[in-house]
Amino acid sequence: MTDIPKTQQAVQLVGPDELVFNDSKEVFEPGPHQILCRVEASGLCFSDLKLLKQFSTHVRKGPLESGIELGILDEIPSYVPCAKPTVPGHEAVVIVVKTGPEVEDYKIGQRYLVQADYRWLKTATSNGAFGYNFEGALQEYVLMDERVITSPEGDSMLLAASVDHSAAAVALAEPWACVEQAYANKERQTIKNNSKMLIIAETVIDDNALGDLFDNYGKPADIWCHRRRNTEFNQNSSRDQRRIRPR
Ligand SMILES: [Zn+2]
Repeated sequence: MTDIPKTQQAVQLVGPDELVFNDSKEVFEPGPHQILCRVEASGLCFSDLKLLKQFSTHVRKGPLESGIELGILDEIPSYVPCAKPTVPGHEAVVIVVKTGPEVEDYKIGQRYLVQADYRWLKTATSNGAFGYNFEGALQEYVLMDERVITSPEGDSMLLAASVDHSAAAVALAEPWACVEQAYANKERQTIKNNSKMLIIAETVIDDNALGDLFDNYGKPADIWCHRRRNTEFNQNSSRDQRRIRPR
C-alpha cells in the first residue's frame, strides 16, 4: 500500500492563458462513489491549447445541463465548470489507489486508460470531459466518480490497460483513436456534392486530372486550386489561385 499524501503537485489553468504550478493542491478524499487514481502519464495535445486560450468559454468547460442527476455534481470536488480553475490533461493513464465504500467495479492497483469524453453528459453546446469541466491528469492524483464515468449503457470510461505496455504507449491510445475516428466518420469518406473544394498544390493541376477522383467520390460544385508560392512552377504565372472546371 502506498502512502497517499494530503497535498500534491498540479498544473492548474486558472484563466485564459494563465497556467499556475500549484505544489500544494489538495488530494481529495474519495466519497462513497468515488475513485482516487494516481496519474502515471499524461499526453499533451492541441486540444489543450484550445482550452488554454478559451478557458471558461470552451464548450467542454461549461456547466453540465443533463445526463446526470445534477445534485450529484455538488459531491464532486473535481467537477470544475465555468471559471473554476481546472487541471488540463485528457490523455491519461492512471492506477487506482483508493476507492469509496460503495465502489465495487474498481480495485486498488488496477491500471486504466481514461476515455476522456463523457458524451451523454451535455453542456449547452457540447459535453463534459476529463481535463475540461472535470479535472484532468496534469497532477499526481485525480478524483473520479463512478456516476460520472459510467455511460447510460453501463460502459466505463476507464479502459483496462495492460501492464505490458509503457504508460507513455498507453497514453498515446487517445490521440491515435482520434486520428482513426477522423477517417472512420462517414462524412469524410466521400466528397460532398455541390460543396466547395480548395486544393493546395505545388504544381499546376490540369482541369481533367481529378476526373477519376470525382467519379469515385463525388464532385464538388466549386473548386479552387491554390498554388504554393515560391515554387519553380510559379515563374511566369500571374495568379496563385485559379478556379478549376472539372469535366
Ligand atoms: Zn488529445
